Amino acid sequence: MKYEKLIKALTHNGYKVSYFENADEATKYITDNVHGVSVGFGDSATLESMNLAELLSKNNTVVDPSICSGAEFYEIGKKALLTDVFFTSVNGVAESGELVNIDGTGNRVAGSLFGHEKVYFVFGTNKIEPTLEKAVWRARNIAAPQNAKRLKYNTPCAAKGDQCYDCSSTDRICNTLNIQLKKMNGMEAEVIMMNEALGL
Ligand code: SF4
Repeated sequence: MKYEKLIKALTHNGYKVSYFENADEATKYITDNVHGVSVGFGDSATLESMNLAELLSKNNTVVDPSICSGAEFYEIGKKALLTDVFFTSVNGVAESGELVNIDGTGNRVAGSLFGHEKVYFVFGTNKIEPTLEKAVWRARNIAAPQNAKRLKYNTPCAAKGDQCYDCSSTDRICNTLNIQLKKMNGMEAEVIMMNEALGL
């Protein structure tokens, strides 16, 4: 099977792995299975492109700080840390089974680690790298600059979204880099993998 090595490694690391040929199939699976709970979101171009927050809000209470700014962002971001379920993507994933995420304010990474009954990691195959080193490189030099560009931040990488310049900008989105080695204790975690390029 395609991606057999990654699926085996993620399963070994404690994640439930659900594989779909495309985002439509994954979206149907998610909306069929997440009902009657509170759902927090981490900022993600992948989740945005799937319109998941809006779709899940039909049957759940959705808490999505990514649509807020200023003080409201922090207020809603704190609430998202204590929802039943949390959705995030990843900036990179290694075939050896580690999930890599960079964060500027920390709400997305924090939500992926603690406070929920279940966390969903949703990503397309463009996030997959053969080694942990390459997944970290991808997070720093592809995902972060392109996200800075998408969010129109005042960082040197945002102009072209081409590479990391290791800036000290107040808009820097790379203040922490989390490598999740295995599923966190005390919660369920499911990887939703889609066989197409999604997000940054
Ligand atoms: S450290 Fe600065 S330049 Fe590098 S990707 Fe992050 S925001 Fe961009």
